[in-house]
Amino acid sequence: MKPSSSTSESVAGKPCILCCAITGSVPTKAANPAVPISISEQVESSHAAVEAGASIIHAHVRNDDETPSSDPEKFARLKEGLEKHCPGVIIQFSTGGRSGAGQARGGMLSLRPDMASLSVGSNNFPTRVYENPPDLVAWLAEEMVKYEIMPEVEAFDLSHILQAIRMHEEGKLYGRLYVQFVMNVKNAMPADKEVFDFYAHIMATRAPEAAWCAAGIGPTQHVVNEWAIAAGGHTRAGLEDNVRLDRETLAPSNAALIARAAEICAKYDRPVASPAQAREILGLRSA
Ligand SMILES: [Zn+2]
Repeated sequence: MKPSSSTSESVAGKPCILCCAITGSVPTKAANPAVPISISEQVESSHAAVEAGASIIHAHVRNDDETPSSDPEKFARLKEGLEKHCPGVIIQFSTGGRSGAGQARGGMLSLRPDMASLSVGSNNFPTRVYENPPDLVAWLAEEMVKYEIMPEVEAFDLSHILQAIRMHEEGKLYGRLYVQFVMNVKNAMPADKEVFDFYAHIMATRAPEAAWCAAGIGPTQHVVNEWAIAAGGHTRAGLEDNVRLDRETLAPSNAALIARAAEICAKYDRPVASPAQAREILGLRSA
């Protein structure tokens, strides 16, 4: 079987969507003071990331003490700030399980962000089980259909990709199928090039109409960025996934991590998609 990772020649000219995961649920200012915690910090950090090339902002919200929150009121204020200061950018809220439990994870979906992350299966995280029971997955997907929100399926394992394809074929996911390969979460799938190639191959053969992106956690961020860009996919960077530029250097901002991904795009002759182009590629309504 020939892996589907394309040569740089065949991907040249194809716009690449850069997603910025600005905050997450885990990193704190003790790990890197640039991690944006308050809504105003998040909006400011997003604005700089958009200037650097991001067209999707993937966001969690935090309490003042930096603990994760799933408070819809905070998400509403963030959405309002992003719409005002980053007009047109694609807003993607996290329904990930570190910020709340059960249906509280989807409490912000009635705000109708453009996109929301969706996990479709369970796996281990660094210190716990990441639980996504079938009834909760089905409920989150139904809420996204109800509010016309395109999910970005977070695939922490191969079974999650196949489940996403199945759910999309069954009409359970709103809009175009979009899968994010998340690699190098401790105790889950490592950043393994052969596995990455197989993921891309599965997407190309089983869901040729779909689009995909990839993210690497920690020091693998720019490595996975390059794999995705070289293979014709889209990619994610940001302080949620990685707070360093290298072993010795903290990333000064989300924008710096997006700028590094944009440089890799240039190396492969891939233009960085504008928010309007990203909306077109993903089949999202225009802003
Ligand atoms: Zn996230």
